[in-house]
Amino acid sequence: MLTVCHLYPDLLNLYGDRGNVQAFTQRCRWRGLPVQVKEVNLGQPVEFADYDFLFIGGGSDREQALLVTDLKNRVDALRMAVDKGLVVLAICGGYQLLGRYYRTPQGKRIPGLSLLDFYTEAGEQRLIGNVVIEAELAGKKTKIVGFENHGGKTFLNGLKPLGCVLSGHGNNGQDGWEGARYKNVFCSYLHGPLLPKNPVLTDYLITLALARKGYAAQLVALDDEIETIANQAMVERLSNKK
Ligand code: GLN
Repeated sequence: MLTVCHLYPDLLNLYGDRGNVQAFTQRCRWRGLPVQVKEVNLGQPVEFADYDFLFIGGGSDREQALLVTDLKNRVDALRMAVDKGLVVLAICGGYQLLGRYYRTPQGKRIPGLSLLDFYTEAGEQRLIGNVVIEAELAGKKTKIVGFENHGGKTFLNGLKPLGCVLSGHGNNGQDGWEGARYKNVFCSYLHGPLLPKNPVLTDYLITLALARKGYAAQLVALDDEIETIANQAMVERLSNKK
C-alpha cells in the first residue's frame, strides 16, 4: 500500500493541480496497488514520515502568503522526511515555497522553507503559455509537456533542474532550465495537470515510492496510447511553433 499526502488542496489547486494526485493514485490502482490519500489543510496535523508521496500544488500570491506560516511550522518534519527520501512533487506556487523566498510584484517577500537552494523574484511580465521540456528519468531522456503561468522567476543555486526548456519560459525565461530536483523532490512550474499529461513521469514517481519501501518493482505497462498521442501532439505543435 502506498500512502499519499496532499498538502493544502483547498488553497493550492490552481488549474486543477489536484489532478496530479488523481493520476498518481489511479495509475497505482490500475495495477492493483492499493493507495491511501490524506488531504491536509491549514492547521491540520500530519506525520510526513508516514507517507510515500507528498503533493503540493500551485496558487496565487495571496494563497501563498496565507499558508506560509502554517507551512513553516512543518519545516523540520518535512526536511527529515525529504532527507529520508520522501517522494515529493511541488508545482509552481508550492514549488516556490520550498525555496529561500518569493518576492512578489508588490515587493512583498514571502519567506520559503529553504529546503531547496533557490530563490524566486517576480519579473516585469508573467511567464505564460504551453511548455515542452526534456528531462532525464531513470537514465532515459523524455519530453514533458504542460502549461505555465507565473509571475515569479526562479533561480537555482547549484541545484539540478527537472529539465531543459525546448519550448516556453521555464524557471525564469533566461537560463533555459525548468523546475528543480533534489533527492526524491521534483519541482516544476508546469500545470496541466502535469502527471495526467506525462505518464512516464508519473510512473517514475510511483517506482521511486515503491523502491523506497523496498519494492524494486518493474511496473506493469498500462495502455497509454491516448496519453502518448496527446503528449506527442503537444511536442510536435510546440516544436513547429519556432
Ligand atoms: N503566485 C505564484 C506566481 O505568480 C505562483 C503561481 C502559480 O502557482 N501558477 O508566480
